[in-house]
Amino acid sequence: MGRRIQETTPVPGLDPATLLIASCATTFLVCVQFFVSWRQHPDSPCLGYWGVAHFIGSLASVGLAMRGHIPNWISIGVSNVVMISAYGLIWRGVGSFEGRRRHPAWAVAGGIAWGLLCLIPEFYGSIAQRVAVASTFAALYCFGGAWDFWRGRGEPLASRTVAVGLLVVYGVCYAVRVPAAFLAPLPRPEAAIASYWVAVLCLAAMLFSIASAFTFIGLVKERAERMQSVAARTDSLTGIANRRAFVETADRLLATDSGTALLLFDLDRFKAINDRFGHEVGDAVIVGFCAVATETLPTRTMFGRLGGEEFACLLIGATPASAMLAAERVRRTFAAVALPDMPDLTLSVSVGVAVATPDCDFDRLLRRADEALYVAKKGGRDRVEMAEYVLRVA
Ligand code: GH3
Ligand code: MG
Ligand code: MG
Repeated sequence: MGRRIQETTPVPGLDPATLLIASCATTFLVCVQFFVSWRQHPDSPCLGYWGVAHFIGSLASVGLAMRGHIPNWISIGVSNVVMISAYGLIWRGVGSFEGRRRHPAWAVAGGIAWGLLCLIPEFYGSIAQRVAVASTFAALYCFGGAWDFWRGRGEPLASRTVAVGLLVVYGVCYAVRVPAAFLAPLPRPEAAIASYWVAVLCLAAMLFSIASAFTFIGLVKERAERMQSVAARTDSLTGIANRRAFVETADRLLATDSGTALLLFDLDRFKAINDRFGHEVGDAVIVGFCAVATETLPTRTMFGRLGGEEFACLLIGATPASAMLAAERVRRTFAAVALPDMPDLTLSVSVGVAVATPDCDFDRLLRRADEALYVAKKGGRDRVEMAEYVLRVA
């Protein structure tokens, strides 16, 4: 049974040739934007993938627009292979953003498969089959990209959901085109360029290009800002919370949680360790103390480095007795550390403990723990002392 051939009906207000040129120009501008962003974030190769994808996408648009003016094997064959590969590169870019290792060949596999199918005369002669297979590959790449973004949701980025939605919607547009290629009336081959579908796809491609530029570049920027903010709150030597992060969190926890205790640790005679064994060994001792403390302290704990060889721990839901016990365990474990290579290196830590009283702010709690620490140092070091468990007005 023959397919219905539709006379080309001009799309009101949508001149396909103009739309193709506009789509090609938009895609190219977006490609430039991706490359500019890549220069700003050279450690994000995903921007390069997306830039190349839009570049070859704009070339493919030119090829499609030249239908009838250049040989069909270029305007149909090469242009579609390149267009499908552009979606493959978008998918590959998402994989790169999410740190997934994939051979770049997969990004062009769909386009090449479609090109090889065109070597079969029955396939090449059927516009419906060509459209259906090309749309299937494009849809698969879009859905694959959406899936990759979705799987990375453990990293909270505000634009992530938008990126997933964008690729799903675009994938659906292509997926719908698969049955439509067989069911909807076909345009006359020589006037295919003026068909309704071309107009719709051009508009969709333009909107997708613009939206993807905002969303994908936004994702890269969000990640960079997030990493900067994490770095600003992390101690570079030990990887634990720095003073700023610790104080911010402690302030918040003190306002909401009752039964909070502060443990203030200060390594004993640390200057002598530096002087005798060198700064590198001193650094290793600091890192080693962090490992001991994080291993030994209870789980509901906020632990941070206040500076130098001074650390603090906020225990949630602690009683004076449990706070003393936790501090004593860290002290004992650290004092038991022995390095076979350095038999002369003896390690110990003094601890001041203060339990929060109602309406006690962090500054006051810290002052009380510091006083207790001073008592521990005065008392001979390698010991735990507790501040009086009464609210003292300083
Ligand atoms: P005390 O028992 O009274 O606490 O004596 P201490 O020697 O531990 O205390 P002091 O405050 O005199 O010395 C602390 C030293 O810690 C001085 C400083 O050079 C060293 N220090 C601070 N930050 C670092 C660091 O990141 N790495 C190393 N290796 N040393 C550090
Ligand atoms: Mg100190
Ligand atoms: Mg010290």
